Amino acid sequence: MSETPDAVTIACRFCAANNRVPIARALEDLAKVRCGSCSSGLLRVNGEPLTDITDEALSHPWDHEALDKLKSIPMADTIINKLLGSTLDKLQRFDLMANGVCLGPKQVPRVWKLYLEAAGRVDVDPPPLFLVQDPRMNAFTMGAGLPQVGVTTALVETLDDRSLLGVLGHELTHVRLGHVTYRTLVWLLMIGAIKLLDLFDLARLVIKPIQIALFRWYQMSELSADRGELVTTGSLETFVKTHMLLAGGTSKIIDELDVAAFVDQANEAERLRDSDLLLWAMELFRNNSRTHPLAVWRVHHGLKWARTPAFFEVLAGKTQGILGRAPHRTSNETTAP
Ligand SMILES: [Zn+2]
Ligand SMILES: [Zn+2]
Repeated sequence: MSETPDAVTIACRFCAANNRVPIARALEDLAKVRCGSCSSGLLRVNGEPLTDITDEALSHPWDHEALDKLKSIPMADTIINKLLGSTLDKLQRFDLMANGVCLGPKQVPRVWKLYLEAAGRVDVDPPPLFLVQDPRMNAFTMGAGLPQVGVTTALVETLDDRSLLGVLGHELTHVRLGHVTYRTLVWLLMIGAIKLLDLFDLARLVIKPIQIALFRWYQMSELSADRGELVTTGSLETFVKTHMLLAGGTSKIIDELDVAAFVDQANEAERLRDSDLLLWAMELFRNNSRTHPLAVWRVHHGLKWARTPAFFEVLAGKTQGILGRAPHRTSNETTAP
């Protein structure tokens, strides 16, 4: 049972007039939500930097919950920090430097410009961005102390600028929220690089409870980064389209893919979900190379958040806020699956 209201009241940041905004209609095109008094756009969806955005607004409660569980395991932090020393940072930076293209104002400036826009939207200093040759659509953020973001050639080829902007905002939200270290460890476990760490005689320290808690948190951290993705583009359609393409898209069939049908699929998958199934799927993904799995689950939760006043509060600006009820959580969101 949802507690989400049908409408929010937004005070215009230009003339301070209060506007009652029906949520469902606003979500059709957030750029068209205008002040009834001065006609200015009420929501900041045209690329302007959001310097007042907070970690609290972006973090999904299940992300905190899973991280708390991980941190409550005795010695977890010590073991993880031992696994991820500065040597690993240097190794990763060298790997990307040696095998990818470092983007910048003169190197693929179109993508670089999108990257800077995304960084402004989630208010984070952009770390180095690399383009790597890979036939799979993917984006990733790595590093123990020094974050670095990567996108694959297939991703840049397949996504349009709006979707690419959203994916970059997603990765930069991982950076902003300090997800990078733990995500790097998950990635190392996934690709079997812990064998490499045998060299440091540390593999034996990776105990099962930490692995399970890490993989669980990894999934939950996606829900937070997806919030950043939604905020970056301010478009629900772009969000769904991006995740549909990541789940099963190629540039050849892009015009035949249907956003509404994918939303129905996401809601249907949510009905099928139960905790055991999700945990099983999470366990399974360790054995393949998907770094952003469970697309439909994430679409469902991303859209659910976009229907709450919390999303509108981020886009409307913090100072004038949303007036009236603002339940940031819905009743079935208090316990993670
Ligand atoms: Zn106004
Ligand atoms: Zn992610």
